[in-house]
Amino acid sequence: MRAAVWHGRHDIRVEDVPLPSDPPADWVQIRVDWCGICGSDLHEYVAGPVFIPVDAPHPMTGIQGQCILGHEFCGEITKLGANVQGFAVGDLITADACQHCGTCYYCTHGLYNICERLAFTGLMNNGAFAEWVNVPANLLYKLPAGFPKEAGALIEPLAVGMHAVKKAGSLHGQTVVVVGAGTIGLCTIMCAKAAGAAQVIALEMSSARKAKALEVGATRVFDPSECDALAEIRAVTQGLGADVSFECIGNKHTAKLAIDVIRKAGKCVLVGIFEEPSQFNFFDLVSTEKQVMGSLAYNGEFADVIALIADGSLDITPLVTGRIGLEDIVSRGFEELVNNKEHNVKIIVSPSPA
Ligand SMILES: [Zn+2]
Ligand SMILES: [Zn+2]
Repeated sequence: MRAAVWHGRHDIRVEDVPLPSDPPADWVQIRVDWCGICGSDLHEYVAGPVFIPVDAPHPMTGIQGQCILGHEFCGEITKLGANVQGFAVGDLITADACQHCGTCYYCTHGLYNICERLAFTGLMNNGAFAEWVNVPANLLYKLPAGFPKEAGALIEPLAVGMHAVKKAGSLHGQTVVVVGAGTIGLCTIMCAKAAGAAQVIALEMSSARKAKALEVGATRVFDPSECDALAEIRAVTQGLGADVSFECIGNKHTAKLAIDVIRKAGKCVLVGIFEEPSQFNFFDLVSTEKQVMGSLAYNGEFADVIALIADGSLDITPLVTGRIGLEDIVSRGFEELVNNKEHNVKIIVSPSPA
């Protein structure tokens, strides 16, 4: 079959690879319909290896040095492992990407997304930029009849936003700031609105992304390069600051800003993937009782997102900025995202061009 295989930085090849084996007893085989290119895939292309194991084989999957990328996907079940129940060949499904061991402290305490041996699909085990992919059945979600297939590829990033939103507790009636309006920022804006936030303020500098933020439901957008964002946020919150903020960039300066914009005892959720340490004065937390927490991937939020897309509460249309075939994934996918970052949100890839 054809697949997009990561061989190294700036070296992703669309090539012939063997078909996946028949699925193990608790796994299924999926024929992929659509798979989205994620920021983490782009990271592996531009600056990798980041998550892909190269020095030693992954303890659960044996992946080392090469990996079929792709974890934001939907498709149809084509083969069932011997023990799989509750699913049938032909079901349209999507799959949580957090392949986990099931036995470590975190897995046995309901925290499988931070499993000691986490094997993220498409980074630590072969993924869905391919015609077929095998995945564990315990990660599957059936999509309801009539569910748009393209939306199936957007469930995963929305689940990242939803998990971050749930970390912050009830947002009902609250003022929320989302720092960064890339894919995860936009998904977080949508999920915060769906969770009942009264006001969602986006901080963003790119004009295309500012417009997208408003399109997906942000109440207002402030550009920190054009105004004093902190002063503007205080001006619309009776001088207090926001109740909750989400940092969706992964930069030490915007993380500080995300903490600065919340009121005392407010909450800041860090969702971005950081590349370097910062010098932060922790007295800023002691003196204000602000709460700062991290949020990684998702823990069951696929179900919430599927329900909200199915009932029309979440509209994924503004998020999809490109639809391409697998053969074009480097030139019209990865390179397009590198060279035309401002105007893209999610490019989705089909292994079987129409
Ligand atoms: Zn992703
Ligand atoms: Zn585990």
